[in-house]
Amino acid sequence: ERTLSIIKPDAVKSGYVKSINSMIKNSGLKIIKKKNLTLTKEQAAQFYSIHSDKPFFNELCIFMTSGPIIVQILEGENAVDLYRKIMGATNPSDAEENTIRKEFATSIQENAVHGSDSKENAIKEINFFFKE
Ligand code: UDP
Ligand code: MG
Repeated sequence: ERTLSIIKPDAVKSGYVKSINSMIKNSGLKIIKKKNLTLTKEQAAQFYSIHSDKPFFNELCIFMTSGPIIVQILEGENAVDLYRKIMGATNPSDAEENTIRKEFATSIQENAVHGSDSKENAIKEINFFFKE
């Protein structure tokens, strides 16, 4: 099974990429593809289009385009749910100990990482970044 991971601009800027990838590898997940890029406003709005009617949508798009991100495909048994588990809750103040967001997120917006929330969305999100 595969899932899509994004290390968001806050975590890249703060130099947390290696530490986050160690936590990913320690969970048993393999990083099988990786891309460094900076999202355009259009890409961010399209990627998060499910949230387009939410009050946080505009700020989220500004944040997600504010600097480079690392996009990775993770592979392993139960990859979607396992990665959601090691990421921790969306709001870092709700995240459990030893999760990526507990360790590295600073707010509900600047929460270090993205992970697909279902197998169906994982396929869509992987195709969004890795069409070839
Ligand atoms: N977000 C935000 N404010 C909120 C909720 C979410 O800025 O009140 C941002 C946050 O960066 C989050 C992203 O929007 O990761 C997508 O929200 P979602 O509810 O899908 O959370 P996730 O699946 O990332 O845990
Ligand atoms: Mg989500």
